[in-house]
Amino acid sequence: MKLHIKSFGCQMNKLDSSLVATALIEKGFELTDETNEADVLLMNTCSVRHHAEERVMSHLGHLKTVKKSNPDLIVGVIGCMAQRLGEELLDHPAVNLVAGPAKIPQIPDMIEKALNTKKKSIAVTEKIRRKNRQAEIEALDKFELAYDTDENHIHGQAFVRVMRGCNNFCTYCIVPYVRGPEISRRPKDIIKQVKKLAAGGIKQITLLGQTIYAYKYTEEDKTYNLADLLKMVSEVDSIKWIRFITSHPGEFDVSILQAMADLDKVTPYLHIPAQSGSDRILKAMNRKYTAKHYLGLIEKARQILPEISIASDFIVGFPGETDEDFQATVELVKKARFKNSFVFKYSPRPGTDSANNLPDDVPEEVKRQRNLDLLAIQNAISEEESSKLLGKSVKVLVEGLSKKPHVNMAENGNNPQLIGRTATDHIVVFNGPETLTGTFTTVKIEKTSALTMFGKLE
Ligand code: SAM
Ligand code: SF4
Repeated sequence: MKLHIKSFGCQMNKLDSSLVATALIEKGFELTDETNEADVLLMNTCSVRHHAEERVMSHLGHLKTVKKSNPDLIVGVIGCMAQRLGEELLDHPAVNLVAGPAKIPQIPDMIEKALNTKKKSIAVTEKIRRKNRQAEIEALDKFELAYDTDENHIHGQAFVRVMRGCNNFCTYCIVPYVRGPEISRRPKDIIKQVKKLAAGGIKQITLLGQTIYAYKYTEEDKTYNLADLLKMVSEVDSIKWIRFITSHPGEFDVSILQAMADLDKVTPYLHIPAQSGSDRILKAMNRKYTAKHYLGLIEKARQILPEISIASDFIVGFPGETDEDFQATVELVKKARFKNSFVFKYSPRPGTDSANNLPDDVPEEVKRQRNLDLLAIQNAISEEESSKLLGKSVKVLVEGLSKKPHVNMAENGNNPQLIGRTATDHIVVFNGPETLTGTFTTVKIEKTSALTMFGKLE
């Protein structure tokens, strides 16, 4: 039996997909990249923006046609969209099974049932915000520990979930409604998982959480926070680099910056989305900080960790965003000098506060223009910041072949083009033996651009 999984959305989804894939491989499935070879096709979906859902719906439209000639194909929709739409998706003629993010442990059985009986099935969490979901959470923890192996991950790097869900309720965001309340995982489980991954050759761990600074777990009279967790992961010998994403600026404080400075293995990199530079809009977004607070925070970060690189997210065209509000965002971007920013056009999500209470009143054309303008400003800053690396020798963790492995091969002893990342999350391409994949190496930077550096192996 062949399995194809398409993943949309964030790292959480990618991690879920790899856990499900490993569980199914253990049941005898073989993974395939070719959709037309698949006996089972899973789509792990994202609900954060309308566009992400639209893409899934269009795939399902196509699969309806495919199933006319291949009626035995099993199609499953899993992830956030499955949780959000439930029965509505199950009614789609192409769909055999629907499973929300908290129901991934059930997917192998659901697939078996679909293969044997051709009956449709659904597993989504009822009232996902309720506290007493202990059995569900325990099943998730068990599934995570059992199936997170180094084979799940690419080339020396692994993501480890430290918390699920979110309690922040930013007014535009669907996450708290589809991933449930914030729940931190047991430190012992996290470290057990890190050790297992390290034993399999993993060198870099990225700890994952929607608001990772809020990590908190009390056990045997001790409350563990993110700094404790970073220290515990640092103590695992063969783990050399540690990252954590995503940080919420409202909760972040200097103690974590100090922990980053004290722990050599924690990379000087923060993804700390600002979302807007206008206090009025930040308030309407329920972000619980001001632009001044945000800028103060990153100034502090640069005092404590001078080499730190910082990335951000922005939403443009939030309801009521005026030219003046947008200018405040532009000002913040200019002052903050991010390594890079992800810029999104506001997309009203059904059931969220902003979709319920605020008209989506910024015209699409204005959203599009603000998106382009902000990206252009960020791009110019990224180019200037990157150029500071010119002529420097940097340590990178090699991720594997670049998208164009044949570039410059002839003049580099037939070595392909590889891609690696620095501790500060800068992307570096260079030619070298493919066997470097998953290891650290040093590259001298010879050319820079906004997002990619080009160099020579030292
Ligand atoms: N938890 C993270 C945080 O608070 O920074 C981000 C999680 S969200 C999956 C990733 C990004 O999507 C957000 O930082 C935000 O910029 C964007 N986003 C979330 N909801 C959105 C919406 N309704 N429309 C447009 N962008 C959105
Ligand atoms: Fe969504 Fe806000 Fe939670 Fe991030 S912190 S997941 S943006 S609600």
